[in-house]
Amino acid sequence: MLVAALAAAVVVTGRGQTPTPTPAQPTTAPQTVWTIIGPDGRRPMATTPVGGREMVTAEELARVFGVELREDPLTRGLALTVQGKTIVVSPTTGLASIGGRVVTLSTPPVRGERGWSLPMDFVDRALSLVYQPRLDVRNVTHLIVVGDVRVPRVQVRLETQPRLARVHFDVTPSTPHTVVAEPGRLVVRFEATALDLALAAAGPPDLVLALRALPNTPAVAIDQGPRYGTFRVVEGADGPTRRTTIEVLAAETPATGQPAPTTPVTPGQPGQPATPGAPAPETTPELGPEARSIHTVVIDPGHGGDVDVEGVRGPGARGPAGTFEKHITLTVARLLKSALEARLGVRALLTREDDRTVYLDERAAYANNNKADLFISLHLNASVSQKPSGAEVFFLSLDGYSPEARRVAQREGAVLPSATGGDRTIEMMLWEMAQLQHLEQSAVVAGLVEQTLRTRVKMSPRAIQQAPFRVLVGANMPAVLVELGFISNPEEEKLLGSHAYQLRLVEGLVDAVGRYRAELEARRPGAAAPVPGTAPAAAPASPPPAPRTP
Ligand SMILES: [Zn+2]
Repeated sequence: MLVAALAAAVVVTGRGQTPTPTPAQPTTAPQTVWTIIGPDGRRPMATTPVGGREMVTAEELARVFGVELREDPLTRGLALTVQGKTIVVSPTTGLASIGGRVVTLSTPPVRGERGWSLPMDFVDRALSLVYQPRLDVRNVTHLIVVGDVRVPRVQVRLETQPRLARVHFDVTPSTPHTVVAEPGRLVVRFEATALDLALAAAGPPDLVLALRALPNTPAVAIDQGPRYGTFRVVEGADGPTRRTTIEVLAAETPATGQPAPTTPVTPGQPGQPATPGAPAPETTPELGPEARSIHTVVIDPGHGGDVDVEGVRGPGARGPAGTFEKHITLTVARLLKSALEARLGVRALLTREDDRTVYLDERAAYANNNKADLFISLHLNASVSQKPSGAEVFFLSLDGYSPEARRVAQREGAVLPSATGGDRTIEMMLWEMAQLQHLEQSAVVAGLVEQTLRTRVKMSPRAIQQAPFRVLVGANMPAVLVELGFISNPEEEKLLGSHAYQLRLVEGLVDAVGRYRAELEARRPGAAAPVPGTAPAAAPASPPPAPRTP
């Protein structure tokens, strides 16, 4: 779900300090990414400020809406044709004429390096007059809804009292939804394609820690605070806007941090309390920082699509012979998926199945939503020099995190801290915390991957490293990022493109996952003595941290 993804992206990008796994790029004006949601899915569209105005290139309009631009020598205007209809825009006045009607754009088009750019209001003021199906431009959330897809406006507001918090959802138009209690949170899920969401939550975080949009899905999470006890759903009367209120009640004694079991709840009748979330009775062995086996692996083929989002290049790095990182990572991910399923019998999922844009936080969120036991992000390295070669394995470093975050990360199964009252801070803390709890296990996995790759492919001199990779931060399970090789090295570029070499990499990764699973299972209570040769690898000594952007 993309509004959520955007919301999350905006929050996390706001820190602007965590390098992302891409080669450094020249700094350009900050882009705004709009999301176009239609019956055929979602597409991003980037705009750039020019002289204080938000502008969109003709190239981008062509890609997203199929608008064709040509300079018309007769009228000295720009003729923009879409679906057989033509809009003529004056490059001097910014007036646009559409079949005898004239509308004013906020500023005239400008010609730059990448051709013509038009003010963003061209979409709302001119294009929407001719475009079919109809366009609904929502400026606040940077969303354009095409045709009849269901994208309700959802305003969420938190109201707190000493022993009770109310989370009000005002939904326009009224949209069916369910409320589900999941470990540590309540999830309100709507029957919609996406949400046009506004979250406002300020208040003490003891009952409700944070309100969050969930990426990839039209749902909002209410994270439980340390005093969370139970909840009930109060449905308001139906109408153009429908209010649903989730009441969160304090526990008699502070919560133990034990997760409650997943309990689906059917919304009650107006005013009638629904089934409260059941208290946590017993431990759930699959949950928590220490998984006991590997059932699901999420493989993340780095990059994708042609658009750069969040400072990450869509195509990724490019080799001297023209190979794109995004294609190799997808090919290897597909091979790895088949091999994991066939040889280890685990469920393997990809964060993207084709060449498309996926936001960084969506990748980790996808793994979280699918309750993955392991997250493997695949990338190719690039260097300005053609010399460096070999694979490298990364896990998240604590660089850049607060002392508080480090302290919590080292406490196993700790209750997540609520540092300040501001929901944004908490939201970021939570997101960061996700991976911090699994660092030790991530280091073990990185060690195994390094060992199993080393016997099959060339390793870089710095084979294991820690770096603050954004894509790993939100993963709530052991997570590693593997740079399969240097695409900037001509020989290695050739190797990385060959099926035989890709299979060697996959063999190594499957071997590592198999060994990690054996270790986990050997450690289960009641398990036999550890299988020889699978003793837990010591966490590798951390080399000097490398805040870099491969
Ligand atoms: Zn990359």
